[in-house]
Amino acid sequence: MTYDTDNIFAKILRDEIPCDKVYEDEYVLAFNDILPQAPVHVLLIPKGEYISFDDFSAKGSSAEITGFYQAVQKVASQLGLQKEGYRIISNMGANAHQEVLHYHLHLIAGCDLGRMIKSGLV
Ligand code: 5GP
Repeated sequence: MTYDTDNIFAKILRDEIPCDKVYEDEYVLAFNDILPQAPVHVLLIPKGEYISFDDFSAKGSSAEITGFYQAVQKVASQLGLQKEGYRIISNMGANAHQEVLHYHLHLIAGCDLGRMIKSGLV
């Protein structure tokens, strides 16, 4: 699979589509999800062209990977989420229902998030 430069997050990175920005640095842009699933629902995306967690982990440079994950902690800290806790999710591929094919993490918080996934999958 090749990276589609017309995906919605690529357009956000190019400022062709607006976003509600939460944080930005050399490696990452973080913004509020347009359809939040919890009181806090931030998306974090690397600035490089990576399709998924798998793609980013395989092809990202050490600086990009380190910078990206350190930014997750910075955003959680900026939003004051450490005390009550938060969840990080990344959907990868069809079974996980990844909709946007630019790698992203969901940072979700602000209430009791319940168990990790719905029961009854096995
Ligand atoms: P996925 O299913 O790929 O893991 O999640 C994609 C996420 O992107 C969804 O939570 C969806 O609400 C969010 N999203 C899709 N389009 C836009 C958009 O144009 N702006 C923002 N801020 N979020 C979007």
